[in-house]
Amino acid sequence: MPTKVAFIGSESYPFIKTGGLGDVMYALPRALRREGCDVRVILPYYACIPQKFKDNVTWKGSFMMDLCQGGQSYFVGVMETEIDGVVYDLIENREFFDWGNPYTGLWEDIPKYCYFSKAALAVLNYLEWIPDVVHCHDWQAALVPVYLRTSFAGTPVGAARSVLTIHNLRFQGICSLDHLKYWSGLPDYLFDYPVFKMNDHEANMFKGGLAYADRVTTVSATYAEEIQTDFYGEGLNGHLWYHRGKLRGIVNGIDVDIWNPRTDALLPNTYDEHSVLEVKRANKRALQERLGLTVDDGKFVLGLISRLTDQKGLDLVNAVFEQMLDDRTQVVILGTGDPRYENSFRYYEGIHPGQVCACIKYDESLSHQIYAGADALLVPSLFEPCGLTQLIAMRYGTVPVVRETGGLKDTVEPFNEYTGEGNGFTFDRYRADLLLDAVNRGKDQYFDHRNVWDALVRRDMEKDVSWDLSAQRYIDLYEELKELGLQGL
Ligand code: ADP
Repeated sequence: MPTKVAFIGSESYPFIKTGGLGDVMYALPRALRREGCDVRVILPYYACIPQKFKDNVTWKGSFMMDLCQGGQSYFVGVMETEIDGVVYDLIENREFFDWGNPYTGLWEDIPKYCYFSKAALAVLNYLEWIPDVVHCHDWQAALVPVYLRTSFAGTPVGAARSVLTIHNLRFQGICSLDHLKYWSGLPDYLFDYPVFKMNDHEANMFKGGLAYADRVTTVSATYAEEIQTDFYGEGLNGHLWYHRGKLRGIVNGIDVDIWNPRTDALLPNTYDEHSVLEVKRANKRALQERLGLTVDDGKFVLGLISRLTDQKGLDLVNAVFEQMLDDRTQVVILGTGDPRYENSFRYYEGIHPGQVCACIKYDESLSHQIYAGADALLVPSLFEPCGLTQLIAMRYGTVPVVRETGGLKDTVEPFNEYTGEGNGFTFDRYRADLLLDAVNRGKDQYFDHRNVWDALVRRDMEKDVSWDLSAQRYIDLYEELKELGLQGL
């Protein structure tokens, strides 16, 4: 019997994606499917899902579900579609999902994801598709393991085991105890310290999910260790340390069909590890033309593709921006987020025309062109659970410059100038001078030891950044849970 897994989360490419979670919710189910698992993905049917996907769904039916203290009745509609053997069940409720992009603010998002977590389990019962494992993602699905062992115990889906994956611990779904108590409709005894309670006033959805999940995973081995410390634990380090026996770190991969420089239709010119050196120069010129930069394939082009938040180490970038920018260097930024970073990068573009381009927008196609046309990609994060941009960069022969934290540490082996080994330029402590030093070490190789740099580019393209190994580790985890059975948990 193939292992049956239901993925439950708030976003998935190609329907809706705001960050790495959307990539993982798409790529991991496909990888599991290739390994023989039977996988379904349960998502909200947001109004902002593009029409071309809405035109391809099948109506599976509807029912009413109790939510809230006092048990108000809410509509649950189910739409279904399939992409490459993975079935997507989309939950429709206009009151919750007809506005937002898809997130709005915590006050509205808490009720939205209480409803979603409960409805996801109700839909599995309704469809009579009972998984071996419900695999939940981030705080938006963190109530699933709790509902599974309370409201749904004794129902068919109650026989499933649960895995909760932490993609980013910074976002936890914290609100007043009363707000969560009201909307979740969960019994009072859960609102004490071992489960939801944070302090006298606040409840934390992630905290409750972590307590109730049969296994907790996060997206790199280093981040799994880091979140048990004060600095990275976002206030939950003690709780995670207490539950460390069920915590595992499994590094993300990328979908190597979507991210494939050999076939990528969004690139001006496709390439492989043999043609990369020549074709990258052509792609660099095309990128410079598209962005209004001085067209010169001799420049060192440094890319940055990121949400513009303090997590991403942008304070370090700002601190040494002018020093990174000598007349041999160009910088391309693609991102949106905090206005203070958007504005600082616009400012640098203004005073360095032709040398800096700040693209303050979300643009999938431009991201592909930057991965293919830049020489190096900057990821100097303050913390990084896994990070996908450094993986995509390596696949495209773009050398990552990263801070040694979380998944960046686990996926980018530091370049060793004596042996010529490694995948990128790295620095450890969160200091701007160390970032600048890493960029300069990269430039030294690029300008003065081009043969070493070129070998690095080719080696990065050959590195296995696919999901294959990690999908197998998830399957091992599912098998472990199946063997343990409910009694052994
Ligand atoms: P996070 O999930 O913290 O945002 P990740 O590195 O895990 O960071 O994933 C980021 C994903 O979002 C990558 O696929 C990256 O290419 C994409 N991305 C980020 N910002 C943009 C943008 N402005 N335009 C296009 N793609 C972007």
